[in-house]
Amino acid sequence: DQTISQIAAGEIIENPASIIKELVENAIDANADRISIRLSDNLLDEIRIADNGDGIEKSQITKAFSRHATSKLRTISDLDRITSLGFRGEALASIANISQMECVTKTAESDFAYRFTVEKGVVSRGKPVGAPVGTTMIVRDIFYNTPVRKKFLNTTTKEIRRIVEVVELLALSHQDVSIHLSRNQKTLLHSKVSDDKINHIYSILGKDIAKNLLPISFDTESYKIEGFIGNNLLHRATPDREFLFVNGRGVKNSDIARAIRKVYRSLIPLNHYPVYVLYITIDPILIDVNIHPQKQTIRLSNENQLTTILERLAGEKLLPKRE
Ligand code: ADP
Ligand code: MG
Repeated sequence: DQTISQIAAGEIIENPASIIKELVENAIDANADRISIRLSDNLLDEIRIADNGDGIEKSQITKAFSRHATSKLRTISDLDRITSLGFRGEALASIANISQMECVTKTAESDFAYRFTVEKGVVSRGKPVGAPVGTTMIVRDIFYNTPVRKKFLNTTTKEIRRIVEVVELLALSHQDVSIHLSRNQKTLLHSKVSDDKINHIYSILGKDIAKNLLPISFDTESYKIEGFIGNNLLHRATPDREFLFVNGRGVKNSDIARAIRKVYRSLIPLNHYPVYVLYITIDPILIDVNIHPQKQTIRLSNENQLTTILERLAGEKLLPKRE
């Protein structure tokens, strides 16, 4: 019933940023390589996400908006080895529960695009419209039917920061996708597709950071480390430029962060934080699955080995050689 699904919705749709995360992940899962996110002046009024991905077939649209309908999970054991970003099949249903949604979508096979509205979770009959292949999701009147709405009315700056953070993580982990985030025609972030990782990072984090990054890479039997660490000129008063990705997902791991910060202790001012963008590829078996998949915090089974290697790699790049 309505109440139960709203409570369930509250579990993942905590704020506008989590709506954006889910919808952008869906676009990426649908093979889009261009995604635009447009925010309205008042964040809760409208979020519009357009992609050039596969689109949704007209016959599949009701299913897409119903709970636990995912086209992505095939067997339970897939849970151990999730490759696509979405796998729970409830994001669209949850978002539709706390907002008024509209969806314009076209597959390559279909002659028309179709426009659907979703009201209290019920999808309208589609009207044919003209639009390119791909999907546009429009989310309006966010939280209109929940008590949380009030909480967000005066928090725009904080919420925008949260959104930019989410989009930075998605952009940094998808070199082959261009993501444009704007509000009132003003660009907040625009990632560019590039074969060159540093160029890609440049488009997201800016020149000052990109020009002071040093490449590191390392391979073992069970994992691969790749990415960039800042030189001693880069440091931040807040830990907002410590980016860690495990198997393509932005994650937090305090042991890894601590190990890297240790190397910088003598190089950057006290109480400042280093800058790094590290991508770790690891056998999913070694990721602790007891931690909820939505949580950003993860644990790895061979963490000590990994932190030791990261510390050594960073040390080699940054610290003066001793004779
Ligand atoms: P999940 O991503 O976990 O499968 P969602 O509720 O996020 O669940 O999405 C439900 C389904 O709707 C997806 O499995 C997919 O088939 C379809 N879908 C959602 N967004 C898009 C999109 N932007 N492009 C194509 N298909 C989409
Ligand atoms: Mg999804």
